[in-house]
Amino acid sequence: MELILLGPPGAGKGTQSKLLETRYGVAQISTGDMLRAEVKAGSPIGLEAKGIMAAGALVSDDLIIRMIAERISRPDCANGFILDGFPRTVPQAEALDKLLHDTKVDLDAVIELKVDEAMLVERISGRFTCAKCGAGYHDKFKQPHVAGVCDKCGSTEFSRRPDDKAETVHARMEAYNADTVPILPYYRAKNRLFTVDGMADMDEVERQIEAVLRKVGVPEPAPA
Ligand code: AMP
Repeated sequence: MELILLGPPGAGKGTQSKLLETRYGVAQISTGDMLRAEVKAGSPIGLEAKGIMAAGALVSDDLIIRMIAERISRPDCANGFILDGFPRTVPQAEALDKLLHDTKVDLDAVIELKVDEAMLVERISGRFTCAKCGAGYHDKFKQPHVAGVCDKCGSTEFSRRPDDKAETVHARMEAYNADTVPILPYYRAKNRLFTVDGMADMDEVERQIEAVLRKVGVPEPAPA
């Protein structure tokens, strides 16, 4: 299965792509997570990306395309992948087409998570993750069962993304509208674009995504 999840920051791409990764056994690829790992490691890519990410702007197409080309050639992508946060510009979408064409792989679907932008700042500015296992939480919508303790791994260390501050969220939203929204007609013209309601609760969004996957002929995963 080769799938793209599209949507503005806070639309739920990360949450849904991780659910799909577990259910369908394909690789979840988040360019944002990859860049954050580079920043943490202090690598040359990380040094180049750090300030750009902190400002809520987009890293260069060239860097991202090289990163993705290498990532999707790894063995864990043999069964397919879910792209979360890539492509984010039309040149990135074109480069992806070329990469898929070269490897004779066809994109199954591009799923847009449609959300009410006014709600996004609240969604984004409240989110935090376990520093150890990455489980996601939210100040208002999803606190750990025991305050200050991760439900999944028991760690007591949590972190917040520096670019989840309200000021930066605004810039990220502008980048989405200016650079990423033009991808929608690109995929619509190829009959690959499907839209689901990203404002519905998490289980309902998952159901809607799975309905799209059935429609485009992705085989059902084995029951859990
Ligand atoms: P995300 O975790 O997807 O919200 O990405 C966090 C930040 O990483 C973005 O605000 C951008 O600065 C950068 N980034 C992630 N993916 C891309 C991409 N495909 N193209 C350009 N910049 C990206």
